[in-house]
Amino acid sequence: MKPFDAGPRLPTALGPQETADGVRMQQFPPAEAWDDWTEWDHRAWPRKIPRRYMLVPTVCFNCESACGLLGWVDRETLEVRKFEGNPAHPGSRGRNCAKGPATINQVNDPDRILYPLRRAGRRGEGKWVRVSWDEALADIGGRIRSALQEGRHDEVMYHVGRPGHDGLMEWILPAWGLDGHNSHTNICSSGARAGYAFWMGFDRPSPDHANAKVILLISSHLETGHYFNPHAQRIVEGKLAGAKLIVWDTRLSNTASMADTWISPWPGSEAAILLAIARHLIATRRYDREFVRQWVNWEEYLRAEEPGSPPTFEAFEASLETRYARYTFAFASRESGVDARVLEGIAEDVANCGGKLAAHNWRSAGSGNLGGWQVARCLWFVNVLTGSVGVAGGTSANAWDKWVPRPPHLPPHVPRWNELAWPREYPLSFFEMSYLLPHFLKEGRGKLAVYFTRVYNPMWTNPDGFTWLEALRDEAKIGLHVALTPTWSETAWWADYVLPMGHGSERHDVMSQETHAGRWVAFRQPVRRVAMEKLGRPVRRTWEANPGQVWEEVEFWIDLSWQIDPDGSLGVRRYFEPPGRPGERMTVDDYYGWMFEESVPGLPEAAAREGLTPLGYMRKYGAFEMRAGAEPEFVRPLAEAERAATRVDPATGIVYTTAPAAPAMNIVPTPVFVAGALGRPIGVMVDGTARQGFPTPSRKLEIYSSTLAEFGWPELAVPDYVRSHVHPDEIDRQGNEFVLLSTYRLPTLIHTRSANAKWLLEISHSNPTWIHTEDAARLRVATGDLVRVETEIGHFVDKVWITEGIRPGVIACSHHLGRWRLAEGEGTSRMASAVVGLQEDAGRWDLRQVGGVGPYASADPDTERIWWTDAGVHQNLTFPVQPDPVSGGHCWHQKVRVSPARPEDRYGDVHVDTGRAHEVYKRWLSMARPPRGPLRRPHWILRPFRPAEAAYRLPDGGLPDAG
Ligand code: SF4
Repeated sequence: MKPFDAGPRLPTALGPQETADGVRMQQFPPAEAWDDWTEWDHRAWPRKIPRRYMLVPTVCFNCESACGLLGWVDRETLEVRKFEGNPAHPGSRGRNCAKGPATINQVNDPDRILYPLRRAGRRGEGKWVRVSWDEALADIGGRIRSALQEGRHDEVMYHVGRPGHDGLMEWILPAWGLDGHNSHTNICSSGARAGYAFWMGFDRPSPDHANAKVILLISSHLETGHYFNPHAQRIVEGKLAGAKLIVWDTRLSNTASMADTWISPWPGSEAAILLAIARHLIATRRYDREFVRQWVNWEEYLRAEEPGSPPTFEAFEASLETRYARYTFAFASRESGVDARVLEGIAEDVANCGGKLAAHNWRSAGSGNLGGWQVARCLWFVNVLTGSVGVAGGTSANAWDKWVPRPPHLPPHVPRWNELAWPREYPLSFFEMSYLLPHFLKEGRGKLAVYFTRVYNPMWTNPDGFTWLEALRDEAKIGLHVALTPTWSETAWWADYVLPMGHGSERHDVMSQETHAGRWVAFRQPVRRVAMEKLGRPVRRTWEANPGQVWEEVEFWIDLSWQIDPDGSLGVRRYFEPPGRPGERMTVDDYYGWMFEESVPGLPEAAAREGLTPLGYMRKYGAFEMRAGAEPEFVRPLAEAERAATRVDPATGIVYTTAPAAPAMNIVPTPVFVAGALGRPIGVMVDGTARQGFPTPSRKLEIYSSTLAEFGWPELAVPDYVRSHVHPDEIDRQGNEFVLLSTYRLPTLIHTRSANAKWLLEISHSNPTWIHTEDAARLRVATGDLVRVETEIGHFVDKVWITEGIRPGVIACSHHLGRWRLAEGEGTSRMASAVVGLQEDAGRWDLRQVGGVGPYASADPDTERIWWTDAGVHQNLTFPVQPDPVSGGHCWHQKVRVSPARPEDRYGDVHVDTGRAHEVYKRWLSMARPPRGPLRRPHWILRPFRPAEAAYRLPDGGLPDAG
């Protein structure tokens, strides 16, 4: 096998496992033998004790990549013994990062929550009683039923951290009639999404790294970025095939260490560099002129920005050259601190990419800065100029490489708009203004009767966690808090119900991600349940097969929906009955069986070739590949059938139809257009051919965004550079002010869920603050010394790590550590968290660590071998909310003052004033621009859980003082 060979493909390549001379080609047992495979017992080594396993495919839940796993279930004991990669998964191809196999740690975690719990004392007191699932369902379902009957729909909210599934809640919440979804997106990817969406309608890129000539990463993608294991495989393939790898990362990450060119720009200067590259391409006439002429909305740009100029492409080119003339390499160098010759070298590499530029920005600069959304927007500008859009080696839109599931019953769009998640101030936000929720509750904008948090730990993950604590403890603001979680967290401690939901091997979900040029779907399965059923032991509910009574969401939501509407009188229950069997309760087999049969192109045929049902095929292989290679859907000519009942607007070339639209999921990848006077837009004329185009108002790539202009931001209607709130001019370096990079992930941890994975914690359990050697000398601190890091609302105390791997004037601290618990033996995992004391005085909070990590006796003898003592420092508590006024994303980078620790300071100390935090919230809120027209939000811009068209209208008619 060649190194980094693309690996096996479904299903034929799962056959031959050996070369002609008998050398074993791969480590994976052949799929035909997965039901009964014998290997020596690894725990019995060096003795050779055979064990018979059933290998059940599932999907890792430890990040968004959705890599395949095989759960090795002992056929005799039904114990899940280990996890390895699934070679049949087209995205991960049998490979995983450290977090995949560590799923076994999570399954066997001695501190995990095994049974439903209900609060017994005051909120946050830590007293719980075990309840049955039926009791929990009856109480929660009854409260939701009352809310629906009394018209209090907006008081029911589901707030998710890591969804881990596609399409599930788009079925559940609209079926209840709610606009009640909330997400974590605004603390994560809003900036990048907005930057891409204003250009092309789609909000994510899908780079084809493997076939690229130039790979440009504004991230640490090889180790921790979006879809990083699948991406890392292809980045390395591309690099081995000769691609140049360029990494922009202020910190010397592991990814930067692998780059051909690494630069360490001042945080927030990335868009200036990208525009300097764009200017270079334009000025030297080395851009894909034909692609730009055909696919960019330059006519609209000229009408809006150069109204007196002739409507010619040449006039557009001249305007571009003038507009971006000031973005010289010298300017970008001043902003970024990177030598102009290095920037010019990068621009030359991009200019010579031959239409094969694979580029990505997701969190990183996009989520760190005021105006961070312009980073992705300017990056896509470079993709457009080089013609690297949708082609092999270029970058596609996510929706071309992602499949969207459908449930058997599609609920209608709800006629409601929940302003607790979608406030008027942010008409262009991507997406819900989730991290502002406690401030909204504090201001009396609403209250919640039932609040679900699912795999979500806002008190620890979000900025301003003590404001979250103040909201979560207040029963007048949140009547019932239900934490759906596989493991304890800081937030779950303040819940009324803690309901254990399964890890990646204990639940069903479907997932499809744009991991590479291709399209696939994968099936997460509860491996023990599947093994039991194959061995003839029926399972009624998944919790019967999981440890304790750990359940899964699909069955939970179905049962809860029946509880809400037991007799069907609310119109809810019918969505949870199987097709053709009214009155019966839908099962997971009904749900996924229908989905795989009816909505996965090519799967029924592939299954039939093996004598399987589509569900049987997915249960056997765990994944199905629908397409390999890039497919630029935007160039697809409209078929004759599509062109029936169409009209072309001669002014714009947009093709409209009066035919009704097929029912669409309320799901994110593709915008939905409402019909206007000419009908519904479905394509655009390009050089005489009607093509599908992009889901934007112009059906073209939008260098000029009429949407930004109409919704309050005309000065930003064209890609530009926005000075960050941490621009060098804002930082008094002589006064020991710094920019704090707080966003970086560690490759071996997973936000809030890795606290119960012993292998991962043994590797990573500390988050010192990186400080450059020069700055450390000025501050007179050495590695290991404590510093006080002051933000606008408080401070934290951390030890320092002196390094040359960070730009002077910038410090960095990973957000993956700093877990805490309030009780010695309870709450957040003992192997990951410090015991803390918490004091409050009228909104002034002090957290002090009173005990670190240490060995302890448990069901796992390894916990007595814990040698590390550190749990890290919880820096996010000290960050005020800083919402970008356009994308709505939290601008994570912090302006801080650093000084040596004071005598009274202790490692891990955190102090925060939540009164001050609310003032900072109001200051950032005042930067937002509510809509001046009649709509809350443009119809076409992506919005998950899209309500009905009428709900977009402001109830007061969009008066100028609306909001
Ligand atoms: S990259 Fe790692 S954590 Fe993420 S899904 Fe793949 S194996 Fe799991």
